Amino acid sequence: MTRTVYVNGEFVSEHEATVSVFDRAFLFADGVYEVTSVIDAKMIDNNAHLARLERSCRELRMELPCSPEDMEVIQRQLIERNDLEEGVIYLQVTRGTADRDFKFPKDAKPTLVMFTQARALIDDALAQRGLSVITVPDIRWKRRDIKTVGLLAASLAKQQAVEEGADDAWMVEDGFITEGSSNNAYIVEADGTIITRQLGSEILHGITRAAVLELCGRDNISVVERPFSVDEAVAAKEAFISSASAFISPVVRINDHPIGDGKPGPLVQRLREIYIEMARSLAT
Ligand code: PMP
Repeated sequence: MTRTVYVNGEFVSEHEATVSVFDRAFLFADGVYEVTSVIDAKMIDNNAHLARLERSCRELRMELPCSPEDMEVIQRQLIERNDLEEGVIYLQVTRGTADRDFKFPKDAKPTLVMFTQARALIDDALAQRGLSVITVPDIRWKRRDIKTVGLLAASLAKQQAVEEGADDAWMVEDGFITEGSSNNAYIVEADGTIITRQLGSEILHGITRAAVLELCGRDNISVVERPFSVDEAVAAKEAFISSASAFISPVVRINDHPIGDGKPGPLVQRLREIYIEMARSLAT
């Protein structure tokens, strides 16, 4: 099926969807993005994604191309035009098109692009068997709280993981894990306490992470927000990741060490189930 894609005010076939070679995202990675998951043709936590997009733009002094309400209307049209039942909507805003110059252009109009990707999120084979991760140095810039399209370090990390026969990479800075290549990272200690790094400019403030903390609060599962080391991860009882598209997925191996018995653990499996239930009931 040929997708319908949204580019700067128009719905066009994916084969005709283009942006300029002078777009600042192409030249300087001067763009931000969001990925919202869709199940049952409805969006999960979309308001939070659009709020984070507004924040990313504000932090970079980038103009929003339209209001979040108008973006949501476009997202809904894309779901409908592409008959999207399950998958993701990708949304990107850039500072716009201008002749190449490091300083910000004066009158550029922001670029807005959105497209859908159909894919099974709930019946995900990787979530069922659990992920293996390698650890790699975190070579990213210092504002990882801004969701920019400058994703080369993440792409290199993921590629290295795949070449080494793993599924993903956890990034390490000063001996502590920051986050996964495209997800937040968690371990579960022997007493059932979940550890995940505290918010700050070292990690992306995951929308799914916020939902995990809320779920844990509701279910009296204790969570400590602090950095954890590779050694702690290796010794953990369970481990997992969270992201809009992976939801909550177990990690069963770090480097060459199995986590626990090397199979998805009970706490993570339960969290995934209750997350999906909650997301489904609140999707709009
Ligand atoms: N960290 C990074 C580096 C990511 O790319 C992502 C996914 N966008 C996340 C965390 C998870 O964020 P979210 O739950 O909002 O998808």
